[in-house]
Amino acid sequence: MSYKSDIEIAREAKKRPIQEIGAKLGMDADHLLPYGHDKAKISQDFIDGVQGKKNGKLILVTAINPTPAGEGKTTTTVGLGDGLNRIGKRAAICIREASLGPCFGMKGGAAGGGYAQVVPMEEMNLHFTGDFHAITAAHNLLSAMIDNHIYWGNELEIDERRIVWRRVMDMNDRALRDMVVGLGGVPNGFARQTGFDITVASEVMAILCLARNLDDLKKRLGDIIVAYTRDRQPIYARDIGADGAMTVLLKDAMQPNLVQTLENNPAFVHGGPFANIAHGCNSVIATTTALKLADYVVTEAGFGADLGAEKFMNIKCRKAGIAPDVVVLVATVRAMKMNGGVSKADLDQENVAAVAEGCPNLGRHISNLKAFGVPVVVAINHFVTDTDAEIQAIRDAARAEGAEAILCKHWAEGSAGTIELATRVAQLADAGAAQFAPLYRDDMGLFEKIRTIATRIYRADDVLADKKIRDQLRQWEDAGYGHLPICMAKTQYSFSTDPNLRGAPTGHSVPIREVRLSAGAGFVVVICGEIMTMPGLPRKPAALEIGLNEAGDVEGLF
Ligand code: ADP
Ligand code: MG
Repeated sequence: MSYKSDIEIAREAKKRPIQEIGAKLGMDADHLLPYGHDKAKISQDFIDGVQGKKNGKLILVTAINPTPAGEGKTTTTVGLGDGLNRIGKRAAICIREASLGPCFGMKGGAAGGGYAQVVPMEEMNLHFTGDFHAITAAHNLLSAMIDNHIYWGNELEIDERRIVWRRVMDMNDRALRDMVVGLGGVPNGFARQTGFDITVASEVMAILCLARNLDDLKKRLGDIIVAYTRDRQPIYARDIGADGAMTVLLKDAMQPNLVQTLENNPAFVHGGPFANIAHGCNSVIATTTALKLADYVVTEAGFGADLGAEKFMNIKCRKAGIAPDVVVLVATVRAMKMNGGVSKADLDQENVAAVAEGCPNLGRHISNLKAFGVPVVVAINHFVTDTDAEIQAIRDAARAEGAEAILCKHWAEGSAGTIELATRVAQLADAGAAQFAPLYRDDMGLFEKIRTIATRIYRADDVLADKKIRDQLRQWEDAGYGHLPICMAKTQYSFSTDPNLRGAPTGHSVPIREVRLSAGAGFVVVICGEIMTMPGLPRKPAALEIGLNEAGDVEGLF
C-alpha cells in the first residue's frame, strides 16, 4: 500500500476562510488581521479585551527522548486537538512556527504529518506571516547600533572583546559561525571577531515568546545584556537606545497567528525558540489567548520531556502564571525499539523484546512528569509497521508506572484515530486532579536549581562545575539574577549528556561547560556539551529537491 505524502494531503485540504475559524472561538472578523485568505493575526485590542475571561484547560504534549525514528509530537498535538473537537469540545492547538534553516536542510516540516496537519503547510514552513523576518531585523538592528556606538566614540566604554551580542539570520549556514567584521579600514569601524546564529536561537525570539504584552516586550528587550566594559560592567540594549525601535519592528510579530487544521479547527502558530539555549515552546501570548477563547488548549514542547516539558513547566508556566491540567506523553513502538538497541534499518521487523528493553525510558518520563503533580497519559502514535504484541509491551510498561497508554491513529485517520485519547484527556482535565508545582522555587540558589534538575529529572548522581562557573553563578546572584529559572542546554537524545546513552541511564554526572545569562528572556542558560547555535546543511540538503512544478505548486517540501 502506498501513502500520500504530507504535502499531497495538505494540498487536498478543504480550507475554510480564516474568518470562519476565528468565529469558532468567538472572534469577529474585525479582530482578525488577515494575511491572505487562510492566515490571520489576532489584534492586540481583542487580546486585551478578553483578559477577564476564565481560562480553559491546558494540555501539554511531550515525548520520550527523540530518536531518528521520529515520535510525532506535533502530529499528535494536531490529532488530539481535532479529536477533542470531534467529540464536541471547543479546542484549539498552539504550536511553534517553522525556521527556514531546517526546512531546506533536513526533510520534515513543523506542521504535523499525515492526516493530522496544520494548513497552509507550505506557507507555514516558508515565510508565513513574516514574524521570523521581523525578529531577524530587530536582532540585527541592535547589532548594527552596537557597532555604530563604538564607531562614533564609544561613550559607554564597551570593551570590543566583550561584545556578547552576535548577528542572526534564518538559514543553516556554517560559514557564518565565526568571522571578523569591520575590516577595510577606518570608515568601516573597528575590526573584531563575531558571528551569526540562526534566528530561532536569538534572545529576541525567546523574549517575544515569553513577553505578556508590548510593554513587557519593550522592557525585556531593554534588559538584554549586549556587552561588558573593561571592568566587566554590563551594557544593556537600553543603554544603546535600541529597545524602542526594536519594539516597533516587533509590534506586528507579537500578535499571534491563527490558521487551521486539516479538519478546520483553530490552530495558533506563533514563535519558535530553540529548545536547547532557549525554552522551546510557542509564545506565551498565543497560549494565554487561546486559553481565554477555547475550553481545551493543546500545546507542544520541543525535544523529549526531560528538556521540553521540564522547561515548559519551570520556565513558561512559571513566567506566564499558567499550569497544565494533563500531560500527554508521546511514544512510538519504533522509538522504544531504538531505545532498546535496534538500529534504524531494522525497525520494520517485529521485536517485542527490544520494545520492552527500551521502555524504561518511557517509565522514567512518566514518573518525572507525575512529580510535577499533573496526570499523565501515554499516546502511542501508531505506525503501520507496529504489531499488536509490540503495542501491548508499551501498554504494560506504562501501566507499571501507573499511567494509561492509548493507541492513536491520527496520522492515518485524523480525528477518528484519537477519539479514545481525546475522551480520556477531557475527562482527566475536567476532573481537575492536577496540582501543578514547578520543580524548584525562585528563591533557591542557581547552582541548587541546576542540581535539582540534574538529579530529579536526569537522575544524575552529581553536577560537575569548576570554580569559574560556580563563581559566575554567584556573581549573577549578587547582581540580582538569582531568582531566574534555569534553561538547560544538553543533548535531546538521552537523559544524560551523552547522546549515545539511550534508555534510562544511571550513575552518570552532568558536566557544565558554560553558563550564559539571558537577562532579557529571564533565564540562565546552562550548557552541557556541544550546542550548535548556527546549524549547517547536510551533504544532500532538502533544498536540492525543492522547486515549483508546472502547476505552480511547491514540490519537494516534505
Ligand atoms: P515532532 O513534533 O515530535 O518533532 P512531528 O509530529 O513533526 O514530530 O513528526 C515528524 C515526522 O514524522 C513528520 O514528517 C510526520 O509526518 C512523521 N510521522 C509522525 N507520526 C507518524 C506516523 N504515525 N506514521 C508515519 N509518519 C509519522
Ligand atoms: Mg514538533
